[in-house]
Amino acid sequence: LIGPDGVARPTIFAEMSALAAQTGALNLGQGFPDEDGPDEVLEAARSAISRGVNQYPPGRGIPDLLSAVAEHQHRFYGLTLDPAREVLVTAGATEALAATLLALVDGPDDEVVVFEPHYDSYAAVVALSGARLVTVPLRWPDFQPDLDRLRDAVTDRTRIILLNDPHNPTGAVFDAEVRREIVALAERHDAFIVTDEVYEHLVFGEPHVPIATLPGAWDRTVSLSSGGKTFSTTGWKIGWATGPADLIDAVLAVKQWLTYVNGAPFQPAIAAGLRLPDAYFAGVADALRAKRDLLGEGLRAAGFEVSVPSGSYFTVVDAAPLGATDAAEFCRALPHRAGVVAIPLTAFASPERRAQYATLVRFAACKRVEVLQEAASRLSSLA
Ligand code: PMP
Ligand code: GLN
Repeated sequence: LIGPDGVARPTIFAEMSALAAQTGALNLGQGFPDEDGPDEVLEAARSAISRGVNQYPPGRGIPDLLSAVAEHQHRFYGLTLDPAREVLVTAGATEALAATLLALVDGPDDEVVVFEPHYDSYAAVVALSGARLVTVPLRWPDFQPDLDRLRDAVTDRTRIILLNDPHNPTGAVFDAEVRREIVALAERHDAFIVTDEVYEHLVFGEPHVPIATLPGAWDRTVSLSSGGKTFSTTGWKIGWATGPADLIDAVLAVKQWLTYVNGAPFQPAIAAGLRLPDAYFAGVADALRAKRDLLGEGLRAAGFEVSVPSGSYFTVVDAAPLGATDAAEFCRALPHRAGVVAIPLTAFASPERRAQYATLVRFAACKRVEVLQEAASRLSSLA
């Protein structure tokens, strides 16, 4: 977490967004939309501020949002949750993940098994929890894991299997057999499952299947999500954890010492978002699918080899056909060569495994169509 000079290292997103600002390049690096989300949600926050919803809300979250999360889990996944005991509001999925890991990890002999590449906060938070990170590689170009390697990684030392589905940075949606194997392994080795599903509504094929809905999963699973992606409000940092009451109580016990409570006026607004009609959620996925296709076409035309994502904001490409041998170097040069910022996949991998992803680069598709068209046109100069 701290560099050799004793200074905290900036995250890859801070570094690459700063590079975009400095060079005026199009930022297809950090995954945030460049347009506002639904008016109903924005208006609900304005109205809450005007109504004086500006002081500390309850630690678990306001009852209206707890109920809206429970209703959402029932509407989309058929899960029946007790909103008062089985839902906890957090400062984004980031805090939900940190509080969950700090709550469930017992000590330095515990291991957390995670697919690699993985979202950058995972390794940092596992380090903060004191556990050991055990990684299982995902294969280019479909980014599914080898189930034998997953079986080898999970042992009686495994405290948590940490899943992210749909997956950042690869855009993979895991095959049903991967989810089933994770539940079977968690049962066999008495491990918890922690699942980060912030891209649950950003899927381009079959509807999302939460691992918590599988037989045998609920009692040992904490599911995490956030309003950031679904409602294009990444700056609001309203997330949640759901699961059995005893696990949610443990997460709350940590969460109350991290942030205590979260943004009061944003909570009724995200509750309003979660209650939007089905057509809203389908529309978000449809719009992003069109953007994925547009970006994918541009990247292919520029000479990259493209892994077509099944979900999330992201598309991963291999830059080797363009002569790249080091994705980090390629991404540092790209704003100067083509006026576009992207993220090297090595930023999501442990040092031992970086070589495997040496020429892979992540582009974000969650930008306006004009921006994606302009990016495609700029990137065509690389071909
Ligand atoms: N998990 C994943 C996989 C993500 O991509 C992100 C990125 N925003 C987060 C968690 C963080 O979510 P939040 O902003 O709700 O903390
Ligand atoms: N989740 C987004 C991404 O992966 C943003 C992350 C961040 O800024 N920490 O790009």
